[in-house]
Amino acid sequence: MTEQRYLPDADDVTEFEATATEVDDDYVVLDGTYFYPEGGGQPADHGHLSWDGGRARVRTVRKNHGDVRHYVADVTGDLPEAGATVAGEIDAERREAHRRMHTAQHVVSRVVLDEYGAATAGNQIHADRSRIDFEPVDFDDEDVERIERLSNEAIERDPDVRKAERPREEVEERTEEGRALLDMIPDHVDPLRVVEVEGFDYCPCGGTHVDSLGDVGRVRITNRESKGEDTERIEFELASA
Ligand SMILES: [Zn+2]
Repeated sequence: MTEQRYLPDADDVTEFEATATEVDDDYVVLDGTYFYPEGGGQPADHGHLSWDGGRARVRTVRKNHGDVRHYVADVTGDLPEAGATVAGEIDAERREAHRRMHTAQHVVSRVVLDEYGAATAGNQIHADRSRIDFEPVDFDDEDVERIERLSNEAIERDPDVRKAERPREEVEERTEEGRALLDMIPDHVDPLRVVEVEGFDYCPCGGTHVDSLGDVGRVRITNRESKGEDTERIEFELASA
């Protein structure tokens, strides 16, 4: 069982120490980690692990039941023994890009829900571009301009972005219809990690996000594509904060 230490509110930590609990030919499990394991449309963090006598690049990170596996490559020295202290170092630039992108996704999803009543059916974050699928909705070019403008107005107001673990009952009560697929989260998961943009959005989410909305920068919608009768895909990039 790996403690996911960036939860509830430590998305900015990129260096840490932990203890190896399981070591295989190509992965290391730690008792706790700040590395984000891929999921929920957000890619894994990259970085390095080092220990007494060795070092390795972390090429991807995946959850396996309760464990977080750090898949390693370019290993120098012997892999650590279980019980060894391991230092983790997350690629901070990539982490920051994902934090900004994932928070931008929350903003655009909220704007589309408020303005068009459409839910986020799926999303995929990358460091340099992201996409969100909405349904049921049919956008035209003017709608896209409006979504971009309203998203950037919200970002410019620069409210706090708070993350906290909240009782599931509260989350089910406060999450607006269409904002999150709560039914997809197994019943036993309680509390739930919530990302709240003060006065703007409340959404259960386990990804990494900025602490202050202005840090997102500017959203630029680069493409709109119809993905079926009532599904629209929006692609966007971010300009610097
Ligand atoms: Zn999120």
